[in-house]
Amino acid sequence: MTDRLEPMPADWQRALAVVAHPDDLEYGAAAAIASWVDGGREVAYLLATRGEAGISTMEPARAAEVREREQRASAAVVGVSSVEFLDHRDGVVEYGPALRRDVAAAIRRHRPELVVTLNHRDTFGGTSWNTPDHRAVGRAVLDAAADAGNRWIFPELAEQGLPPWEGVRWVAVAASPRPTHAVEAGPGMERAVRSLLEHRAYIEALTDADPETYVRGFLGRATGDTAARFGGRAAVSFELFPR
Ligand SMILES: [Zn+2]
Repeated sequence: MTDRLEPMPADWQRALAVVAHPDDLEYGAAAAIASWVDGGREVAYLLATRGEAGISTMEPARAAEVREREQRASAAVVGVSSVEFLDHRDGVVEYGPALRRDVAAAIRRHRPELVVTLNHRDTFGGTSWNTPDHRAVGRAVLDAAADAGNRWIFPELAEQGLPPWEGVRWVAVAASPRPTHAVEAGPGMERAVRSLLEHRAYIEALTDADPETYVRGFLGRATGDTAARFGGRAAVSFELFPR
């Protein structure tokens, strides 16, 4: 795995990031998102669930409220103000036409050139089994980028005032075990740390470590591991699917 990662394309204006859970973007991609917003790009977030099954010591109804609030705060740290939730059920998100339609509708509403999602593949790093929600949402996002441009797949969307959008040029998959591209992490790293720290209730339930020590350690390792393939610079990697 010494193939050199290419820099991410820079000739775009709008991105939509679609993931399964609150915190999915903060565990890595947020440093890239902060840099994009700094560069004048517009980025919006779409969450398939509210992450209500993610805290074992908290009832789902309560966790949904807490995690939505934490997600909005973490988005604000990197300059993202548009945060939407689809309310699929955490842990049992089903890949299929209903999810594809929801994501295609959002793509038509936001009209992004770049769509970002989280690892749709079976494993993280070839060793840790991925979660069913990440696989389902990632695959649905890759499919919905095409669905959004086809007027005949979900014709009801046009009737709802959402005409086809054929402008998606790439889908970028964060944390893929097969990355092809990267964004330097340094400029956005401090905000990425603070962005992940906003998921405090989640992190405090996850680890006994000091939250900031845990977050800096995790993001430092994740972006540092990519440096060998990106000119020695810590970086956020993506598997890029051009369209
Ligand atoms: Zn997740």
